[in-house]
Amino acid sequence: MPSDFRLKTHYELAIVGCGPAGMAAALNAKIRKRDFVLLGSDFCSPKLAKSPQVDNFLGFPEIKGEELRQRFLNHLKQMEIEIVSLKVTNIYPGPPFMLVGKDQSFEADAVILATGVSVQKLVPGEAEFLGRGVGYCATCDGPLYKGKTVAIVSYDREGENEANFMADLCSKVYYIPFYKEVGKLDERIELKKDKVKEIKGNQKVETLALGQEELDVDGVFFLRDILPTEQLVPGLQMDNGAVAVNHHLETNVPGLFAAGDSTGQPYQLIKAAGEGGTAALHAIKYLDGLKK
Ligand SMILES: Cc1cc2nc3c(=O)[nH]c(=O)nc-3n(C[C@H](O)[C@H](O)[C@H](O)COP(=O)(O)OP(=O)(O)OC[C@H]3O[C@@H](n4cnc5c(N)ncnc54)[C@H](O)[C@@H]3O)c2cc1C
Repeated sequence: MPSDFRLKTHYELAIVGCGPAGMAAALNAKIRKRDFVLLGSDFCSPKLAKSPQVDNFLGFPEIKGEELRQRFLNHLKQMEIEIVSLKVTNIYPGPPFMLVGKDQSFEADAVILATGVSVQKLVPGEAEFLGRGVGYCATCDGPLYKGKTVAIVSYDREGENEANFMADLCSKVYYIPFYKEVGKLDERIELKKDKVKEIKGNQKVETLALGQEELDVDGVFFLRDILPTEQLVPGLQMDNGAVAVNHHLETNVPGLFAAGDSTGQPYQLIKAAGEGGTAALHAIKYLDGLKK
């Protein structure tokens, strides 16, 4: 997966998420010869890899999740589908949609959300202060925090690079890891192994309350593998924590489709793959409609 891949400025279709839902969507888009891009994190997908044994994927009895993952990736390779390593942090409805990730942004006429579901709950204050001190990509928003104090709450080691980057810009960086074995952090970063309880402030973030203390901060970044879907797209309608979709996997935003765990239970591989393929076919119909 090339992380330095330069995206085009515009695609017909962007597929966000590279689990079974996103991969199946990409397969259908490729077969129908559409102009699309498949975006994901560095590892596609941690959930699939973690399944010790899958018994309910038709045609593959007693297969390990990791083996199935390899088969999916090989299938994409055979079809010459590339996964672009880019975590999308914002999707602004269009037309066309504007998708933003670290250092890159581009447009797409239609988007499929295949981002899975986050097991981490929002921290109190997180939604309220989004864009007013709370963010999901420290390196994207870094310049706004030059000379200021930020806290980086990270659920995996990818956060260490972002924290080290911020140490060059900010007057103070706190790093709060939610994983074991923290690697090499810049010596200017203060490590806090504590619970995150609440974000407080008035117009903007002012304080991050931890289990043992309160930190005065100007910004708080949450670095999760899966961002809360409702925070990705302004105005996206949710239903009980899942993206609300109809039978065509359309969301309330025209041109925006969703598939897989993001649309709710059951959280199953076959549902994810089936919905990914279905969403792609409906997205293609939508795109054809735009041309008429
Ligand atoms: C331990 C375990 C065992 C399981 N066992 C089974 C089983 O036996 N049978 C079964 O049917 N199901 C099983 N599941 C469930 C199954 O793994 C999920 O239902 C399936 O992986 C969902 O696929 P998805 O494509 O919707 O999401 P995911 O597989 O979660 O993939 C989403 C991908 O999108 C990426 N992504 C997220 N946000 C962004 C973003 N903003 N920008 C770019 N990329 C992004 C993520 O990094 C991830 O790679 C198991 C799950 C776990 C955790």
